[in-house]
Amino acid sequence: MRNEDMESLLKEWFDENYEMLRFANGHALNPMVKKIAFQHVLQYWRKLSNLAAQVDETELKLFLSGLETPKGNKFSILAYVDIARTQEEVFLYDIKTEDVEYLDANRKRHEDQLNLYSKMYYDLHGDPMAKAAVIATGQTEELKGAWEKYTNEGDNTALEQAIKSWDPYLEVEVNKDTTTKVLSDFGKVVDKIEGKEFVSPPSIELETKVLGKKNTNFAQHVCDNCDGRFSCTSFKTYISQEGASRRGNKKSSIALLKQIEEMKRKEAN
Ligand code: SF4
Repeated sequence: MRNEDMESLLKEWFDENYEMLRFANGHALNPMVKKIAFQHVLQYWRKLSNLAAQVDETELKLFLSGLETPKGNKFSILAYVDIARTQEEVFLYDIKTEDVEYLDANRKRHEDQLNLYSKMYYDLHGDPMAKAAVIATGQTEELKGAWEKYTNEGDNTALEQAIKSWDPYLEVEVNKDTTTKVLSDFGKVVDKIEGKEFVSPPSIELETKVLGKKNTNFAQHVCDNCDGRFSCTSFKTYISQEGASRRGNKKSSIALLKQIEEMKRKEAN
């Protein structure tokens, strides 16, 4: 099949999947986000079609039950992963929509996660995992610029170059024997949930810079996507202070001002 035909098929599948998810979950994407999501798909295909062709099981369900927290609460872990098998080896892939710079800066977290998945796979299927990798479909600054150029001017050269120099494949060392601490950390979180301990961090912590993200703090990276932000005291303190410190500054973020307006509107209701 010609590559152009394959990309048209991908678009059809993407639209069908989107409609199905929208119908099932009731969440819609704005047209810009949807467009970028499909760019992620195309980038992945153009860069890693060989790897995609090796994957013989997608969204494989892994389940680990009978776990117990330090306080005696029972819990289970459910994960979905992609698997590629050759005659001798089994590879595990986890696709993330973050960019590779961010994932690399937070590598330890993903190593822990993939090691746990490797252990779950081994316990269920008995095959030792040969390799595990995170695939970062998020756009680097170069890719963002190249897509913009392609969309506005129809110039494909920069995009081809950006995809060529992009390396979204982040291999992690597989060591399924390191999972005891990860499971214990999960257990502590479960205990907090069961104990209804939902205290948010102090507002000053929301200013902490996020590793691997330029000029982005915790509030922008996490809180902006948190459904509880307008009832969160730390977030309200953070944006009130940010608003005050940026008053008169022409570069004041429109998004931030919108957040403040939204907060006031919610408080008035
Ligand atoms: S807004 Fe959400 S993510 Fe941010 S501190 Fe509050 S509860 Fe946590």
